[in-house]
Amino acid sequence: MHDKHWTDEELLLRLFDVEQPDGHLETCLDCSRRWEAMQSRYENRPAISGGAIEGRLAAQRLKIRARLENKRKLPSMFAPAFAAMAVIVLIAALAIIPKQPRQPEPQAMSEDEMFEDMFRAAFNVEPEAIEPVQSLFEESQ
Ligand SMILES: [Zn+2]
Repeated sequence: MHDKHWTDEELLLRLFDVEQPDGHLETCLDCSRRWEAMQSRYENRPAISGGAIEGRLAAQRLKIRARLENKRKLPSMFAPAFAAMAVIVLIAALAIIPKQPRQPEPQAMSEDEMFEDMFRAAFNVEPEAIEPVQSLFEESQ
């Protein structure tokens, strides 16, 4: 996978068994030197400060990576659930809106627009994704 030099980050991750060796370190003098320097720096780290910082960085990196991977997985995993929720919300909205005198037509917002909003929300897995759904309820009450 790594045809280019390993970055310091990748070396650090390898130190924590996140990056797998790919042969580059064995064949690249520059990277193997940096790798050895990284290892000896880790092994000779100050008892608390240095090691704690390196470990924390790696842990943060792992968290970010896990989050990114979850983000990539979530839409396909939860899209059906969001789609089902979108349909329920749409039905609920259409059921509520006609009773409201202020709204002239139930289709004031077209179904296409509504679905587009819902799917945009469904594919944005950030917590804010709930807001469009909530605001949809607020508007229709
Ligand atoms: Zn290299």
